Amino acid sequence: MARRIGALEAGGTKMVLAIGTTDGEILEQESIPTEEPKSTCERMIEWFAARDIEALGIAAFGPTRVDPAAPDFGHILDTPKPGWAHFDFLGTMAAGLGVPVGYDTDVNGSCLGEATFGCAQGLDNVVYVTIGTGIGAGVMVGGQLLHGMLHPEAGHIHLEMRADDPGTCICPFHDSCFEGLAAGPSIEARWGAKGVELAERDEVWDLEAHYIAQGVADFILCYAPRKVILGGGVMKQEQLFPLIREKVAANLNGYLGCEELKDLDSYIVPNSLNENQGILGCVELGRRALEA
Ligand SMILES: [Zn+2]
Repeated sequence: MARRIGALEAGGTKMVLAIGTTDGEILEQESIPTEEPKSTCERMIEWFAARDIEALGIAAFGPTRVDPAAPDFGHILDTPKPGWAHFDFLGTMAAGLGVPVGYDTDVNGSCLGEATFGCAQGLDNVVYVTIGTGIGAGVMVGGQLLHGMLHPEAGHIHLEMRADDPGTCICPFHDSCFEGLAAGPSIEARWGAKGVELAERDEVWDLEAHYIAQGVADFILCYAPRKVILGGGVMKQEQLFPLIREKVAANLNGYLGCEELKDLDSYIVPNSLNENQGILGCVELGRRALEA
């Protein structure tokens, strides 16, 4: 029988709350703004408590502690968001609701959603990259979401800047990283307009695809995923997909003799769950917490 699970996709600007079933059905969904943590959590606890859930799954903005063995598991780490730095997010929600709570990062949640209900269903090794206001990668290895001392911060890998790039890397930490060169704000800084206003400018997307393909090729080499899913606001520019596939192939240059890479159209793909990959990942996080 399908179980009734609460799902909370916790973003820096909004919280998406939903009730889903372990069959992947979303029964109800609502968003509230992310304000200071105490009142925001009180409001969310009240919402979930009124809806008879068996477990909750949270996919949170980062950086956050995802190691269950760490004393600060489920805390938000350093963040400029008022009140949220070092806040015990998981503990507050678990104490307020009294049900098992699963917890991971937002982008790992999206990866899990696609691997459980979407285009990567049945695959144990999957990379999900979100390219929007920032860049992050969720990584599943052997059916488990990848953690270590922290979660992967694969949005900040070093990329080589192309010589004809008229812009700069805008990351405050790095001279030449993926997020600083290819996230939405760097597109706007480089070209003086938002990506959606630049849809017809081929040079914008050729350069953007160049950077995304560099990052994706590195993830393929490091994690050996069976599928790479690209989501986030920037990837709404669908003309990027054929460019990225072509540049990934050029970048790998035939080095990996894998069957999957012979059909890049089904290997490098957009997200498949009508933007519900994150919330459905939360449902699966909650289900796993319930089973554990
Ligand atoms: Zn960086």
